[in-house]
Amino acid sequence: QRQFALYYQPRVDTHTGEIRGLEALVRWIHPVHGVISPAVFISMAEATGSIIPLGALVMEEACRQIKAWREAGLAPVPISINISPRQLDAGGVDRQLASLMEKYAIPPRLIEVELTESAMMSEAQGVLDQVAAIRQMGITLHLDDFGTGYSSLSRLQEIEMQVLKIDRAFVSRLGTSHQADVLVKTIILMARELQMAVVAEGVETVAQLHALQRLGCDEVQGYLIAKAVTAEEATAFLHKKLLPATQ
Ligand code: C2E
Ligand code: CA
Ligand code: CA
Repeated sequence: QRQFALYYQPRVDTHTGEIRGLEALVRWIHPVHGVISPAVFISMAEATGSIIPLGALVMEEACRQIKAWREAGLAPVPISINISPRQLDAGGVDRQLASLMEKYAIPPRLIEVELTESAMMSEAQGVLDQVAAIRQMGITLHLDDFGTGYSSLSRLQEIEMQVLKIDRAFVSRLGTSHQADVLVKTIILMARELQMAVVAEGVETVAQLHALQRLGCDEVQGYLIAKAVTAEEATAFLHKKLLPATQ
């Protein structure tokens, strides 16, 4: 019934504030209940299997939007799409992405895929093959919510993912204890050694931003910079450089 919409949250360079990407985040625009967060319905969609058609809808809409922005003459930044482990279990995500890229004439550099650690824990060869195929298509892979799941450091070696997203649970504790700072610092050092870029999620305060600048985190995302907004509102992010609130 066309009640799902994609909102977009920017990721910016930690040092310059330049926009580096937009994360597509689905919302259920309910006629009675209003805007419903995916935190509420994604787990239900995963449990019932509705995540398969919903995930397909999200991929299609993100690709349609990239094409629309390109046609409007905007030089769009990459859009990252969250893919559920259930979608990989069902299979064919690589083929879905390939056919959408063809349908909307999108170069792979404009599409990124966010997978959580639990998605990477699958032993199923089909899952690992899809992830490898997506990467081979030139799509950048982000390891989402790093540090909260069942971390598989060995998987980090097997599947080269280019971006590591530090979960906001770590970011929110920055500056509150020595341990919290050491953990973030260590994750950033590890990512660097693995030649991965690091994004800090859930950056809400200037103090957190400054700590991340000191620690050499590449990109930041969070309410301090911007919340997820509609495609129309996100167009403004593409028009001008997005600077952190501190500058
Ligand atoms: P996520 O992938 O970790 O996305 C980041 C979530 O953190 C988003 O919530 C975002 O709005 C929120 N956030 C961003 N900055 C801040 C901040 O500074 N402070 C706080 N407290 N929160 C912040 P959202 O949009 O409600 O999405 C929740 C989760 O739902 C996502 O977490 C993702 O796991 C899932 N999700 C969203 N869209 C999709 C989708 O299209 N497909 C799938 N499979 N999952 C999705
Ligand atoms: Ca994500
Ligand atoms: Ca995340």
